[in-house]
Amino acid sequence: MLHEIAPHQYHLDYSVRAPEPGDRVLVCQKGMILCREDQEELEFPTAEVLGVTQGQHLFTIDDQSFFLPHGLGKPVPQGWALRSIQTFRYASPKHLAFAGWLGSRLSQFYADHRYCGRCGAAMVPSRTERAMVCPGCKAVFYPAISPSVIVALVDGDRILLTKYQASHSAYRQYTLIAGYNEIGETLEDTVRREVAEEVGLEVEDIRYYKSQPWPLSGALLAGFFCRLKGADAITLEENELSEARWVSRQELDPRPDSPSLTGEMIEQFRLGLDPYTQT
Ligand SMILES: [Zn+2]
Repeated sequence: MLHEIAPHQYHLDYSVRAPEPGDRVLVCQKGMILCREDQEELEFPTAEVLGVTQGQHLFTIDDQSFFLPHGLGKPVPQGWALRSIQTFRYASPKHLAFAGWLGSRLSQFYADHRYCGRCGAAMVPSRTERAMVCPGCKAVFYPAISPSVIVALVDGDRILLTKYQASHSAYRQYTLIAGYNEIGETLEDTVRREVAEEVGLEVEDIRYYKSQPWPLSGALLAGFFCRLKGADAITLEENELSEARWVSRQELDPRPDSPSLTGEMIEQFRLGLDPYTQT
């Protein structure tokens, strides 16, 4: 999965300091990041390349620090261009794709919190933690992380796959039922509600699988397997989904090294490694 970057190590350390010449700078604009354009492998410019002397420290991978720049000290040299972070899903090296997604999300967080939602004063970055603080009313705002579920609904040797309506998502492949946790719900409640809402089915035997940070949307995905309870006739929620169908294990295409929890869960089922086949 995209966040699995071993042997590289993601460190959440936070510091308030100016970028050094060798630190990497993430120039984020409308879902795009400045990258080296003449090579397959992702590369981000250093502070030295862009003449950046002021910036917001974000995080560290291994011993490499990443910053959002506060202005560029020189024009962008030839050979660098903005690239959509949507293309990072299958980009390599994976640890830089992950860094790009995180940086883009944090860039959005800082842009969204320039002013206090309580008193309207201009906010400033915290000196001690990854947050924006209001000098006026002392409110503190953290990057929002939204819990959500990915549901692999299984019935014997069949799994339920869905496709989004084009108006709902740009993702065109078969996927699993998914949705955000709502206030007052457990994650298991969310699993039951999303399956009922999207395909009109009941579930039982809910088993937690794994989680995955998904910085593209700010979600924290929690993957669950569950079994069909009762009838299998689908009632499609057509505002969100264009298709939902039962697919047998033999019909599934291999999805090795999927960047997403969804892809990994479908592959686990295809290989007979889901909790119901194993026990
Ligand atoms: Zn305030």
